[in-house]
Amino acid sequence: MRIDILTPFPEICAGPLSSSILKRVQKKGLAEICPRDLRDWTNDRHRTTDDSPYGGGPGMVMKIEPIYRALNDLRSPSSRTLFLSPQGRPFNQKTAARLAAETHLIFLCGHYEGVDQRVCDHLVDEEISIGDYVLTNGALAALVVIDAVVRLLPGALGNEESAVRDSFQKPLLDHPHYTKPAVFESWEVPEILLSGNHAAIEKWREQQALERTRTLRPDLLETQRTPSAGNSETRANEEKTP
Ligand code: SAM
Repeated sequence: MRIDILTPFPEICAGPLSSSILKRVQKKGLAEICPRDLRDWTNDRHRTTDDSPYGGGPGMVMKIEPIYRALNDLRSPSSRTLFLSPQGRPFNQKTAARLAAETHLIFLCGHYEGVDQRVCDHLVDEEISIGDYVLTNGALAALVVIDAVVRLLPGALGNEESAVRDSFQKPLLDHPHYTKPAVFESWEVPEILLSGNHAAIEKWREQQALERTRTLRPDLLETQRTPSAGNSETRANEEKTP
């Protein structure tokens, strides 16, 4: 899989891309992740990527021309262009799994007030939000999405089983985890986990996952009961597929 991160601040990506899973997938050759400096597609001496908004008002808006030129260079017939935006469709595990099946993803990262609306209308396949809050820059949001996507690539995790058991996969929250020591202060690990009875442990974990989901995220169980709600994500994105 190839991933391009198009941003006026590529240096933001350096830390996350050089550690943990994002480093490992690149080292293993599972994903080639390339931060791209949007300023490389500007034509003026100051390498300008933004301008003041038509109609007035605060803040700056990212210009369409450098983005258009960059996407023309980076795109291939198999690529999918994603714009990170607080106004996008909320990102979730289902979207991560769908994107993990793509061969080339281009993440366009906004800054300032965002991008000229014509970018969204004509150059982008889908808009993704990582939550109902506003970040200063889309590169951080892109890295969040990329991390969630690449850990699903076959061979990315040390133990394939762990992704299958993660929260939202079933879709339930994960069960609780414990490690040594068996007792810390007076806080004990549940006895069942020390029993060696794998069938009983598995059953306990399933119960715990269900109970936690009921308590912390009952909406996940609700979605399961109404499968059409889950399908709307796919339908809406298919509608935007060029
Ligand atoms: N004026 C925009 C609005 O209110 O919708 C917010 C712009 S924000 C300051 C700058 C950039 O950060 C956005 O263009 C986007 O790329 C990124 N960003 C901010 N919050 C985000 C979120 N929740 N999810 C994804 N990207 C986000």
